[in-house]
Amino acid sequence: MPTQTAPVLDRFRRAGALLEGHFRLTSGLHSPGYLQCALVLQHPREAEALGAAIADRVRDLGIQTVLSPALGGIVIGQEVGRALGVRAIFAERQDGRLTLRRGFRLDRGEKVLVVEDVVTTGGSTRETIDVAREAGAVVVGAAAIIDRSGGQQKIDVPFYVLAEVSLPTYDPATCPLCLAGQPVVKPGSRTV
Ligand SMILES: [Zn+2]
Repeated sequence: MPTQTAPVLDRFRRAGALLEGHFRLTSGLHSPGYLQCALVLQHPREAEALGAAIADRVRDLGIQTVLSPALGGIVIGQEVGRALGVRAIFAERQDGRLTLRRGFRLDRGEKVLVVEDVVTTGGSTRETIDVAREAGAVVVGAAAIIDRSGGQQKIDVPFYVLAEVSLPTYDPATCPLCLAGQPVVKPGSRTV
């Protein structure tokens, strides 16, 4: 699938949702980039535009319902559902397992699109696909705003993404940015 990486990432940069430099992540690892989808999705017009862009790619799939994993997928799932004119529901964790709650249900054979904000390993998208299949629905595709898996997401349905981002992480002891003498900052600090 063609992506529109550059304009999408410009939206992220404008919102401060994609920072480039030298960061100490909460994991303790260092990275040349920091991505936080919530910072772009906090602006409803940005969320709506990103949802419409995903919807444009999947409009021919006959989607009846959008299903997202909580919490990260809820806002963008809602916007994709709005643009497609279909339901948008979400799965959430109960006892560690993603499940449909709140009276949400899927019919046997219902055509579902799984939507997330960012795919890092593909794990939660795969888990959300399983939730739909266990309910008897047919997952016709999966979509995300950003794929940062480096193509390693192993999703077994057609996968649609608006942007691909490569953000390596480094052990501080061998971080090339540290070795180059570049000061490290915490994402969100004023010195960025
Ligand atoms: Zn470093």
